[in-house]
Amino acid sequence: MKRPIFAFISVLLFSSPVLAGAIFPVDRAAILVGSKFDFKVEFDDLTEAKNIVVTVNGIDHAKALGKAATFIEKEDQLAASSLILRDLSIDTPGRYEVIARNGKQSMTVTWEVYSTGQRQAKNVILFIGDGMTVANRTAARMLSKGIKEGKYFGKLAFDDMPHMALIGTSGVDSIITDSANSMHAYTTGHKSSVNALGVYAGRAKDNLAHPKVETITEIVKRKTKMSIGIVSDAEIQDATPAAMFAHTRRRSDKEIITEQLFFAQPDVILGGGSAYFLPSTTPGSKRKDTNNMVSLFRADGYSVATTNAEMKAAAADTRSARLLGLFHPENLNGSLDRLYLKKGTVDKYPNQPDLTDMTRAALEVLSRNKEGFVLMVEAGLIDKFNHPMDWERSVYDTIMLSNAVQIAKDFAAKNNDTLIIVTPDHTHGMSIVGTIDDTKPGTDMRDKIGVYEQAGYPNYPPADANGYPPSVDVSKRLALFYGNTPDYYETFRPKLDGPFVPAVKDEKGNIVANPVYKDIPGAILRTGNLPGVGPRAADQGTHTADDAVLTAIGPGSEQFKGFMDNTEVFRVMVNSLGLGQATSKSLLPVKAKPKVKPNAIVKANALRTQPDAPVQKP
Ligand SMILES: [Zn+2]
Repeated sequence: MKRPIFAFISVLLFSSPVLAGAIFPVDRAAILVGSKFDFKVEFDDLTEAKNIVVTVNGIDHAKALGKAATFIEKEDQLAASSLILRDLSIDTPGRYEVIARNGKQSMTVTWEVYSTGQRQAKNVILFIGDGMTVANRTAARMLSKGIKEGKYFGKLAFDDMPHMALIGTSGVDSIITDSANSMHAYTTGHKSSVNALGVYAGRAKDNLAHPKVETITEIVKRKTKMSIGIVSDAEIQDATPAAMFAHTRRRSDKEIITEQLFFAQPDVILGGGSAYFLPSTTPGSKRKDTNNMVSLFRADGYSVATTNAEMKAAAADTRSARLLGLFHPENLNGSLDRLYLKKGTVDKYPNQPDLTDMTRAALEVLSRNKEGFVLMVEAGLIDKFNHPMDWERSVYDTIMLSNAVQIAKDFAAKNNDTLIIVTPDHTHGMSIVGTIDDTKPGTDMRDKIGVYEQAGYPNYPPADANGYPPSVDVSKRLALFYGNTPDYYETFRPKLDGPFVPAVKDEKGNIVANPVYKDIPGAILRTGNLPGVGPRAADQGTHTADDAVLTAIGPGSEQFKGFMDNTEVFRVMVNSLGLGQATSKSLLPVKAKPKVKPNAIVKANALRTQPDAPVQKP
């Protein structure tokens, strides 16, 4: 009799019933006291208003939440009705049970509304190693610090932190997250779905109409006089930096995200993605309208920098309280290309800052605000290079992240009032299996791979003053392979001519191994295990559900331990900053800071950033 019961339970756990109905925030959501969110009920079918009963802890929702939800009889031409109540917040901590019925369907969710303790940290610095996997850390430590007889000669800056946790990264819709909903969990404390930023993924057709949740940028700006900094070596509209402020169902809405960045008014913005700031009339622009977003930021009091030197000069100017630095139309180049190989687009953009330069500049400007700051720094290219399985580039950028974290640790050491968190947003399927030794006999590269005692140690040259080995092209190197791949040619060598492009589309539109690597001596065709067709046909590696390793130091960091959900990272940050106390009086004493209002022209022009206005999609 035991087997059938087990089988039944398995079906309950692992089958996904086709059920369109939903309540947002979803079941088991944890909500910060006083934080804003949109409440939405989506019924499966058409319903008359008179049949709908929505209660919160047994009381009619209009009474319990202070406002009745708007009834939408037929949502987006679907044969289904919804209720929506925007900009809600709950001021009393506790457990809330929400039940929605329409006579045919009954749905229940429970929310936990939590408050925070006293403010412990003046500043929070959140470093994201995008896609940084344990193998990234290990390889970065080997190449940067060196290892002999089993012991390393040093630690990475984020190894050497007192508190650590394993982070679960799965989302509402899937065990596998992307960088949008995983970062959204860190910045809002809510789960969401792949491609979603600052919203729950409902069934609305308009990307901007989905139920919103407030981001840490908005909470900090609304409740305190603290500053916000957003730094990335990817496009500033890319998923991770965008999750600091954006609200859209689709992370690809980069033109709109740029406008949302303007409305969010972070004090320091440094990264790539200038193509979305320039009017469509400018060559290279990716905008469809003629708004010059750079001019609008400038009009709102931002210093603007486009090179490393300009950024340093602007940051050093003690009058600078707001800084916009845009150093590349797309993603910046990684440290291996910028500092050593001079490949990628380094020729065209030779004056890009390093992540360390951007971290230093951001700290210089933000620390002028005596009320404190929240700074997010993303090493976005770790992920951008893990996707095409270019492990050397991804590991060099892991070393760069360590260098940037060291700068933050040095800054924090002065006052011990800064919480520093270093975490990936998700992982990749990569592992170090041994070494590849060119001096081993034979022509089959697989025979040159050493495992167990045959691996020994690689012969990278010692790291230079920047912490990187000056060469990756050595005769005995790490054998680091990815487990989830398209078809590709494994060359067993670093890609010295530019980032790896493992697979391409052939003339029939099928994804095939990139033939340019076919004739490299020793290259073998590795048959992939990822889908070659369909909506997620893979021409590169994909994210994994393996836990992410977080480390932290500073006031509040002791809250990180054991296994934690990614939404709890938000909870630790707001707890350390005391952002959910009964009154704002208990925050650090506040001095007035001149508030610059968003430029009126854009304000009038930006109706489409409002949820119910017509939307232009990129
Ligand atoms: Zn990724």
